[in-house]
Amino acid sequence: MAAAAKGMAVMIMEPLRGGKLVNMLPQGALDVMKKSGRGWSPAEWGLRWLYDQKEVTVVLSGMNSLEMVEENCRVASEAEAGLMTQEDFAILEEVKKEIRAKEKVGCTGCRYCMPCPKGVDIPGIFRCYNFMYTESKSLGRFQFAQTVGLTREPAFASQCVKCGKCEKHCPQNIPIRKKLVEADRALRPLPYKIGINFARYFMFRKKRK
Ligand code: SF4
Ligand code: SF4
Repeated sequence: MAAAAKGMAVMIMEPLRGGKLVNMLPQGALDVMKKSGRGWSPAEWGLRWLYDQKEVTVVLSGMNSLEMVEENCRVASEAEAGLMTQEDFAILEEVKKEIRAKEKVGCTGCRYCMPCPKGVDIPGIFRCYNFMYTESKSLGRFQFAQTVGLTREPAFASQCVKCGKCEKHCPQNIPIRKKLVEADRALRPLPYKIGINFARYFMFRKKRK
């Protein structure tokens, strides 16, 4: 990690993605963890993976119950860098595959495709599109409204003129133009489109005058 290489402390916020890596994992991922025989909960797998990174200084994990405090303290006292085995990493690779299988676009959010000359927020749109299928449809659309739909400068997929510039830079070889059309259909069905346009009108009408 760049920060650790410069001698800086590395503090991990939201180590379990606000609980999503515990409460919203696909069944396939849970099955993989279970069959490992380790007996670790999803939270323990996530925390142990972080403690296994020698660059990590502290893990700031939110806790809502005594059980969580006990589990976190136990894991923090047991785990340290280099303790996880190759078998453990193989299990986590399988878990990743299960999570990714639910994703609609293999976008890593690297942003090499940006900026788009027409202002399309390519990684933002793909992130919300994936979120619809890895978390929930309504949460994905809500996130889209917050991070793409209601920004001052419009960043919709429909602004794409299909120039292809972005695809030349994508290390994942994603057919961005095609996937943007797909994502837009899923994220902005007609009622959402009307709702977002309506909200934009009231939020930004002064600027338009
Ligand atoms: S193809 Fe569309 S999204 Fe990609 S750079 Fe061109 S206008 Fe932007
Ligand atoms: S370059 Fe490809 S992988 Fe990276 S953010 Fe853009 S679409 Fe996603």
